[in-house]
Amino acid sequence: KKAHIGVTGLAVMGANLARNFAHHGYTVALHNRSEGKTTALMEEHGSEGDFIPTETMEELVDSLEKPRRVLIMVKAGAPVDSVIEQLTPLLDEGDIIIDGGNSYFQDTRRRERECAEKGLHFVGVGVSGGEEGALNGPSIMPGGSEESYKSLGPMLEDISAKADDGTPCCAWIGTDGAGHFVKMVHNGIEYADMQVIGEAHELLRSVAGLEPAEQADVFEEWNATELSSYLIEITAQVLRQVDSRTGKPFIDVVADAAGQKGTGRWTVQEALELGSPVTAIAESVFARALSSSEPVMRKEAQEVLPAGIGDTTEDVVKDPGFVEDVRKALYASKLVSYAQGLDMLTMAGREYGWQLDLATIASLWRNGCIIRAELLNVIMAAYQGDKAPLNLLFAPEFITSIEDALPSWRRVVARAVERGIPAPVFSSALAYYDALRRPRLNAALTQGLRDYFGAHTYKRIDDPDSSFHVLWSGDRSEVVS
Ligand code: NDP
Repeated sequence: KKAHIGVTGLAVMGANLARNFAHHGYTVALHNRSEGKTTALMEEHGSEGDFIPTETMEELVDSLEKPRRVLIMVKAGAPVDSVIEQLTPLLDEGDIIIDGGNSYFQDTRRRERECAEKGLHFVGVGVSGGEEGALNGPSIMPGGSEESYKSLGPMLEDISAKADDGTPCCAWIGTDGAGHFVKMVHNGIEYADMQVIGEAHELLRSVAGLEPAEQADVFEEWNATELSSYLIEITAQVLRQVDSRTGKPFIDVVADAAGQKGTGRWTVQEALELGSPVTAIAESVFARALSSSEPVMRKEAQEVLPAGIGDTTEDVVKDPGFVEDVRKALYASKLVSYAQGLDMLTMAGREYGWQLDLATIASLWRNGCIIRAELLNVIMAAYQGDKAPLNLLFAPEFITSIEDALPSWRRVVARAVERGIPAPVFSSALAYYDALRRPRLNAALTQGLRDYFGAHTYKRIDDPDSSFHVLWSGDRSEVVS
């Protein structure tokens, strides 16, 4: 009996995906560089389905039905290239190599090209949902050729999460690195989702004077509104947690230095390359960096830097209206962050020749992944049919939501600034919103300055087809450049 798919790399993600395939009736060949993981998986979970344990790459390849499908789940980076190098001489034309790790999309583009030259399909697949998702149904974002999706897609759809309407949270995204790119932006959006929740938490504490357990109630209530999402739900859980050692709220004993594994940073780096203003994601990545980079500098700053505000201890807002203001500011900022992330996808699609379908992409994030939320149903609907807005914020339902949120949003940002409470995404999202709708931007002065010191030229609003330059160090007359 031959296996439907082989998995090489049986750490937590690979092992759980292999089990997930087996639970769906597939025969799965298993392989890991060091044999221990294969043996352990067979011992602990071998009875859950049809597995074929193998010890060498040759054995793995021989155990597969054709066209062969080999899923690589090893550490991202050089290990993926090393495994591909071992696999390719053993495979035949039309076989499919799948990389389900968190690979950088440019690596995926290169690997796809190299494999295509050998007649092999290479499919970079974004898998979201952590170990839990891998086992019970992740959100899956496959790239690679459309042809390979015909053979591979149904299997991936089987093991993927399902949205409430039963649709698989897996669909072909686009060629070469499109799947890994979309997964990367998903992670960037996840950073911003967490940061806006963090900013709301801080304002509820420092301005509204709500203790963590009281905030847990607030987040639970919010989870019944348009903010309903996995992250809001688990925020309530984390805020309600009490530390067993001290009896204090758990959140008060956790060091305030946020970690990151790098995909948020990749999103921002790529956004800079594309010239895509994903300010919410960038501020979120920087907020984590600031929190964790220089503990000594933060400590000294607390001692030497003045706040420039009076005594604020009495200024706790008991007005329940403030809590609602924060909720609306959170929602509006979140919408801006999604609008920016989706706009980045559109720009990347143009740059890399992907026909990205934003309705489909939003639909894949509805379940299985960390950013799963009610909102994604609304975003999906906004892009369906032929009424796709140029920017998510232009969808009629979102114009209405933002209009409703704006007075609250402005009050909250003003209050945060007055009180010296950092709210980088609430405020930068509002700045983006205001910049987008403003008839004239200060970029005109930037152009004037650039022309002055560097003869970089400028366009005229009344003569847009030519470039002009002022002879700044001469008679200051204007010339066509
Ligand atoms: P790790 O990233 O910890 O990688 C460990 C696996 O890689 C082991 O099977 C190891 O083999 C293998 N490996 C490392 N170097 C080599 C090499 N040079 N040649 C062959 N095999 C090698 O495993 P995870 O399961 O955590 O993650 C797998 C992938 O999935 C990563 O890309 C990760 O970023 C991604 N991912 C992880 C998520 C998570 O929540 N953990 C979520 C979504 C994606 P050995 O046992 O012999 O050391």
